[in-house]
Amino acid sequence: MLQKDIFKLEEKRLEQEIKKRRVKRVLLQLPNGLKPNSPSLAAAIERAGATAIISGDPCYGACDIAIAEAQELKADLIVHYGHTMMLERTKVPVIYFEAHAKIPNKKVIKKAIKLLKPWKRIGLVTTIQHIENLDEARSMLFSAGKDVYIGNSCDTLYPGQILGCNYLNAKSIALNVEAFLFLGGGRFHPLGLALATMKPVVAADPFEKKVYSLNDDVNRMLRRRWAEIEEARKAEIYGIIVGLKPGQNRLEAAVKVREELKRKGKKVYLLALREITPTSLDHFSVFEAYINTACPRISLDEPSIFSRPVLTLREAYVMLGKIRWEDLLEEGII
Ligand code: SF4
Repeated sequence: MLQKDIFKLEEKRLEQEIKKRRVKRVLLQLPNGLKPNSPSLAAAIERAGATAIISGDPCYGACDIAIAEAQELKADLIVHYGHTMMLERTKVPVIYFEAHAKIPNKKVIKKAIKLLKPWKRIGLVTTIQHIENLDEARSMLFSAGKDVYIGNSCDTLYPGQILGCNYLNAKSIALNVEAFLFLGGGRFHPLGLALATMKPVVAADPFEKKVYSLNDDVNRMLRRRWAEIEEARKAEIYGIIVGLKPGQNRLEAAVKVREELKRKGKKVYLLALREITPTSLDHFSVFEAYINTACPRISLDEPSIFSRPVLTLREAYVMLGKIRWEDLLEEGII
């Protein structure tokens, strides 16, 4: 199946937007999974009268809008696929195309309902790709006798929507529910959901047509996080990672945690990175541990890809004795 058969790419709307805005040069940005569609989307932009430039760099989220690149290329518009808006008032205007999935969900939801048997009160969450299918899932759960909760406490997200680093909608209903149903592909979001809410999570993946529980993944991850905190505690020299992607830059938080570590007599350096990879960190073999103030999910990758501990900011405060591990678990690790 081609991706244009799986995702709504709205080529007509794309052409209309370009014509309406009378822009001359457009930077087209897509997550890796949608990149094979870039030639046909670039052609749609060019049919509408603008020059299209495809961004070939990786793009993992709405935090990662290619603003500096668009400025460098003198593009007067960024067309961004696959995410909802996170950054307001960008220096180059951005139009978002959400790329909703158009694959059937019924069978996989039915299977998930069987796994949800032990629980009555269910929180329902999804990613932007399946937001149109939330009502169908809600009705099916309801018909199966479940009480269904959908969180709506985040201005920038649709009701029930989560991001890899934003689980506000799920957290807002966590006290009301016994378990969550996540509708969507991959383990990344349901694992984040389980770590953010500390509730049982059942994932229904309509792409793979699979359902599964995240229990084992969570237990494994928590054991590993605690081990990394303990290992990082022994370090004498730290690198504090500052993210250079527009939605990941938390320089102030980085400076603050650096001061805390210095007060403990540690040597601490600020380290700015765009892509945080094992290769980029391995060049700094002098650092015995890292505190990551950029995307928290880089620290929580499964399995760990780094040779040294890479703590999230909140884990760093556990290491410093400012937050109790038990409290972190209670509030959710993300
Ligand atoms: Fe995704 Fe990380 Fe960006 Fe959040 S910060 S949107 S998890 S890439």
